[in-house]
Amino acid sequence: MNDRQLYDVIIIGGSFAGLSAAMSLGRSRRTVLVIDSGNPCNKYAPEAHNFMTNEGRPPFDILADAKAQVLNYPTVSFLEGLAEDVIPKGNFFEIEINDSQKFTSRKVLFATGVTDLIPNIPGFAECWGKSILHCPYCHGFESVNKKIAVLGNGDMGFELAKVIRQWTDSLTLYTNGTSTLSPDEVFMLNKHNIKVVENEIDAIEEEGGTIKALVFKDTDPDYPEAIFTQLPFKQQCSIPEKLGLEMTEKGFIFVSKCMEASVPGIFAAGDSLSLFRSIAHAVASGNKVGALINKCMIDEFFV
Ligand SMILES: Cc1cc2nc3c(=O)[nH]c(=O)nc-3n(C[C@H](O)[C@H](O)[C@H](O)COP(=O)(O)OP(=O)(O)OC[C@H]3O[C@@H](n4cnc5c(N)ncnc54)[C@H](O)[C@@H]3O)c2cc1C
Repeated sequence: MNDRQLYDVIIIGGSFAGLSAAMSLGRSRRTVLVIDSGNPCNKYAPEAHNFMTNEGRPPFDILADAKAQVLNYPTVSFLEGLAEDVIPKGNFFEIEINDSQKFTSRKVLFATGVTDLIPNIPGFAECWGKSILHCPYCHGFESVNKKIAVLGNGDMGFELAKVIRQWTDSLTLYTNGTSTLSPDEVFMLNKHNIKVVENEIDAIEEEGGTIKALVFKDTDPDYPEAIFTQLPFKQQCSIPEKLGLEMTEKGFIFVSKCMEASVPGIFAAGDSLSLFRSIAHAVASGNKVGALINKCMIDEFFV
């Protein structure tokens, strides 16, 4: 094997988790190739919040700074491209890129995130990340005491409405069809001045991603200024599934305490393994897995 093509670690996904891992590994003098297809999940949001030192900056600007700092380490390289396959070959892994290039590494890290599955409601996609939001910790403060809607049903809808109530006195839970809330949940929502509306949503009227009206199939429109919801999601990268990596019930990559997946030598970090989705959390996860991969390689060498 040509040693120049053999990396200690190939990181698939060069966003917050992947770049953070690359920094830990670069500082540990590991040779690292970061492969990234340029599709982070928060690309729809004009501003990122709740990430100290970068408050309110566009996510792509934060990533550009992170990439520049990480690439200062001489053993770290970055490749724009889509990883299409990871093939275990003895103690190594061969990684195939969409332009037919192949690279080999001792370890692989998936920092590939998830894809939110946007519902087929006209106007929804345009508002996602701008006025339809996934997380009150990231975007709730900008909506304080505005007229807010939660889109959800059943226990998930109840829990999200309960949380969002912390940010506003004017809150409605839209179940978009017959409510599956329990009588106790409806009682508690009403007690805390949260209205429940069951009418089916027809469309969201918007202008540049700002909600103008929530239009129903059978009644007059409503005019929330922001909507919070939790969308279903899938892993952004299908290679972990193709490799047969064990997944959790909720659809995350299962990892051990050492953040190693069910195939030895393969690790995961960031949104691909956690329901807690924030930049700070993804950076922390990448930072941790970088150190753990380095320790794993030290233990293999130091025998
Ligand atoms: C709309 C929205 C707004 C958000 N706003 C905030 C906010 O304000 N503050 C905050 O703290 N958090 C926010 N978040 C959450 C935060 O963006 C995520 O937690 C964070 O981006 C996760 O980082 P990650 O590196 O794990 O995954 P991502 O950032 O999703 O990155 C995954 C990377 O993997 C790459 N990739 C995937 N498959 C492949 C492949 N096969 N080959 C090569 N590359 C691949 C993608 O191109 C992408 O760059 C927001 C999320 C969303 C959806």
